[in-house]
Amino acid sequence: MRAVLDHVGIAVQDVQAALAFYRDALGLVVHDTEEVMSQRVRAHFIPVGGPALELLEGTDPESVITRYVERRGPGLHHITLRVDDIQAALSHLKARGTRLIDQEPRPGAEGALVAFIHPAAAHGVLVELKQAARTTADLRVHRTTCGDLQLTTLYDGPFKLDGGAMFGVVPRMLWEQKTVPDDRHRIQLAMRPLLVEAAWGRMLIDCGAGDKMGAKELDIYALDRAHALDEALAAADLTASAIDIVLATHLHFDHFGGATARSVAGRLQPRFPNARYVVRTAEWHDATHPHERNRASYLPDDFVPLQEAGVIAFHDGDEVIRPGVRVVRTGGHTGQHQIVFIESGGRTAVFVADLIPTTAHLQDAWVMGYDLFPVDTLMFKKRFIREAIEREYLIVFEHDPQVAAGYIRETAAGKRYVERVL
Ligand SMILES: [Zn+2]
Repeated sequence: MRAVLDHVGIAVQDVQAALAFYRDALGLVVHDTEEVMSQRVRAHFIPVGGPALELLEGTDPESVITRYVERRGPGLHHITLRVDDIQAALSHLKARGTRLIDQEPRPGAEGALVAFIHPAAAHGVLVELKQAARTTADLRVHRTTCGDLQLTTLYDGPFKLDGGAMFGVVPRMLWEQKTVPDDRHRIQLAMRPLLVEAAWGRMLIDCGAGDKMGAKELDIYALDRAHALDEALAAADLTASAIDIVLATHLHFDHFGGATARSVAGRLQPRFPNARYVVRTAEWHDATHPHERNRASYLPDDFVPLQEAGVIAFHDGDEVIRPGVRVVRTGGHTGQHQIVFIESGGRTAVFVADLIPTTAHLQDAWVMGYDLFPVDTLMFKKRFIREAIEREYLIVFEHDPQVAAGYIRETAAGKRYVERVL
């Protein structure tokens, strides 16, 4: 478990007297106060280098802080350790029999998730675990290898989708423990195409949403085009012309919108001038014959210009696309949705696209409401996750806002979590 000190909580009786010391005598800057209604506490944050001090004042006789001060006087109250994945941290502690106050994470200040460990387990210190809000996307390029293949997770910017739609039949009171929606009910996601480099060339698996969206769509999906694929390619010392192959998992706009771009003259053309675009024939058929349920996701401008330019290489089934790169149809999300196995030197990485869109979707039944055939997703996913755990596949998450890749692990009690690698 990786953890960093986030802040030290200090219970105070009289906040004005405390500020006379911390602000006036020490000359520290005190941030705006924050009311944590559920705890009946007012918090004053004081940054001191990396971590902060947090002055805590009870706002009600029943507040835990008021009662703490009555019983033990003012003083050090808790320390807070920030972790990447609070669910994983709690599972790990539970498996070791550590006494916890909170068995499950609960919402804390500023959209964070928090849980307290019992002081009896922490040798007299009240320890709070905190997972910072997943309200920003990690926009960095990460590199690893898989045998002879170089893998680079790129990004095409952050975006947001409706939280309810992302979790299907899972009640909000459960998924809210993993990700907190914004005031328009959307959760933060990312688009992360994967670059595979080998002796045979450079392949991009999916290519993001691209830059053809209008103001209305940019707003609905909270797309930030200031940090998009060109920036990520530049960070990897590449440009669009360096890509030889673009492989599609499916033709939805958040996966394949980046396949085309508008020229200066306004003409739609292939975005990657030297690339062959590899598309499953039956997915092409579905995308070009949409119905009311999938019309908003299949945008003809994303793919029809490629056919006109003669740059598509169709494939018909589960095939090896290039040595070490193999596609497998999952169905479910779309009838022909496919994932990509990258295999070299005895190692396997899998680009799972919308089969497991984020690390919050590890439990079998956590299937998106967007899926056309959710039971097909469920059946494939059950078998696949078991296999991924047993064979230690490195899973590449296309939409997770923070985790680009990791291993799926399972505790003895059957709780799954991701051991982050990238
Ligand atoms: Zn998607």
